[in-house]
Parts: sequence; structure tokens; C-alpha cells
Amino acid sequence: GIKPSGNISIGIYEGEQEDSLQKRLMLEMALRKAIEQEEFYLVYQPQVNLTSGDVVGVEALIRWRRPDIGVVPPDQFIPVLEEMGLIQQLGDWIVQHAAKQQVAWKKKGVSLRMAINLSPVQFEQMDLPDKITRLIAETGAKFSDIELEITESLAMHSPETTIRMLKSLREEGFKIAIDDFGIGFSSLEYLLRFPLDTLKIDRVFIKDITRGRSDCAIVRALTSLCQGLGLTTIAEGVETQRQRDYLDALGATEIQGYLISKPLESNELIQFIADFKKNQNNQSI
Ligand code: C2E
Ligand code: MG
Ligand code: MG
Ligand code: MG
Repeated sequence: GIKPSGNISIGIYEGEQEDSLQKRLMLEMALRKAIEQEEFYLVYQPQVNLTSGDVVGVEALIRWRRPDIGVVPPDQFIPVLEEMGLIQQLGDWIVQHAAKQQVAWKKKGVSLRMAINLSPVQFEQMDLPDKITRLIAETGAKFSDIELEITESLAMHSPETTIRMLKSLREEGFKIAIDDFGIGFSSLEYLLRFPLDTLKIDRVFIKDITRGRSDCAIVRALTSLCQGLGLTTIAEGVETQRQRDYLDALGATEIQGYLISKPLESNELIQFIADFKKNQNNQSI
């Protein structure tokens, strides 16, 4: 999103400005060190198919365990890494790590699609498709088990180049998802022009789905459009059973959100899957 840069507020004290500059520099120093020392880790949020009721995939979400401070969420450091030009480096690590995890679980008999978020800034590297293909091939993961999540804002800069890169990734067999759909610009145009497998409906439309008629209408329109185009829909931020029931009735394919689970560390995820299956079996008896 486009956020005002704090500095534009009028009447700010010079001292305050210096203070935030100082903070920013400290953050940048800490981030450089974090990349060197590998202070990052991934958590995984389950995605459930509404027809089968099974967990069919997970989304990998990055966390920073900042020494002395604790766990920092991505919104507080991804934009900074993008500006610093360091997101490429971390992005490679994320791709490798997530694909390795997918393979490790599969060896334990837990086969899940793995969704990986890509920053628009990563697409400034012309060799991105080749690099992703090589990094993931090295892990032994099956390409069709990997879903790459992009955002609408990616399309705004140079759609032709982006489309070309996505096409070559998709030809390799990777799945492509468009994330946070519906909050950007020219949404429908991109939906039609981009090579996609999955559309993730943004949380803002899910939040009031059981209350407002308009959100319901938007979700209904999106799911039927996606059905027509042969795309999978994943509803994000599903927190209540009522939202789940609505989404089921509206024809969404999958759901992701706190109703199912918050994002989990890798060992927790294995336990979650086991418990989830046990519950499913108990319910069907
Ligand atoms: P996103 O890709 O749309 O991820 C979904 C976000 O919604 C996650 O926040 C998740 O924890 C949160 N969420 C999931 N279910 C619920 C729910 O039921 N209710 C609510 N209120 N929130 C829910 P998180 O992990 O803080 O990530 C925020 C954003 O940071 C992500 O949005 C994504 O844009 C970015 N991000 C996260 N991991 C990565 C990464 O590895 N690489 C890149 N480039 N960006 C990442
Ligand atoms: Mg995402
Ligand atoms: Mg999202
Ligand atoms: Mg988001």
C-alpha cells in the first residue's frame, strides 16, 4: 500500500525527525546483521479445501527473531529490506527453505502444497525465473507442489515483463497465485492477462461477509468468475464458522485463517495435521 512517509506531517519537531532517522538506521543495521546471522524463520498456515475438508496446502510466512526484542512481523521489515535492496537475498533463502521443508514433510508422509510469497522487488531481477527454478530443483521438490504468490502491485510497473516471467515459471510447472486480490487497481484486467492458477480473496472482503450484502456480492462474483476461468479461490482471514459456511455456499474452493489455525512452526504443523485428521475421523463416526 501507499503510506505517507511520516516526514510530510507539518510542524514536526526536528528532534523527533532525528529520532526516527536514528531508529531507521538502527533497524537497517540490525537487518544487515540478521541476514548474516540467519535470524529469520518461517511459519506455516494451513489451507483447507471446503469440499474434502482436508488440509491441502500451507502458506510460508516469514518471521524475524530479533535478539533482545523478540519476534518481529513481516510488515515491519519486508518494506525496509525492499528499500535496502536486500529482499533478493532473503527472498532466495525463503524459497530454498520453504521448498526444503515441503520435501521434508513429504518424506514423513505429509504431502502439502507449499505457497511462497514473492515481493514485487524480486521481479526486478531478470534472472528470477531461472534462479527460482534452480533453487527449488536443488531441494528435490516437485514444481507442481510449489505455489508462488504475487501481489497486484507487481503488475503495475511493467506488466509485459512480469507476464513473461510468470509464464516461464508456470511452464516449468509452478503454480501462480495472486495474493490480496481486490484491493489494488485494474484488478480484473490483470486477472484476465496474468497466467494464474489461484486467486486469494483479500481478508477485507471476508471480514463482513456475514453482515454486509456488498461483500457477499463481491465474493460471489469473484468465485463464479474464477470457476469460469478454471481458477482456484482461497479466502483469506477466515475467523468464524459462519464465514466458512458463507464461503462454502458462495463457492470458494479453499479457506485460510485463524478458524483453521494461526501460522505454525514446522514441528507444530506436523502435530496439527495429525490432530486435525483425528478430529475429522471422530466427526465422521
Ligand atoms: P499475506 O501474504 O496476505 O499473508 C496473510 C497474512 O494474514 C499473514 O500475516 C497471516 O498471519 C495473516 N492472517 C492469517 N489468517 C488470519 C486471520 O484469520 N485473521 C487475521 N486478522 N489475519 C490473518 P503476516 O504473517 O504478518 O504477513 C503479512 C504480510 O507480509 C503477508 O501478507 C505478505 O504480504 C508479507 N509476507 C509474509 N511472509 C513473506 C515472505 O516470506 N516474503 C514476502 N515477500 N512477503 C511476506
Ligand atoms: Mg500471501
Ligand atoms: Mg494475502
Ligand atoms: Mg496481506
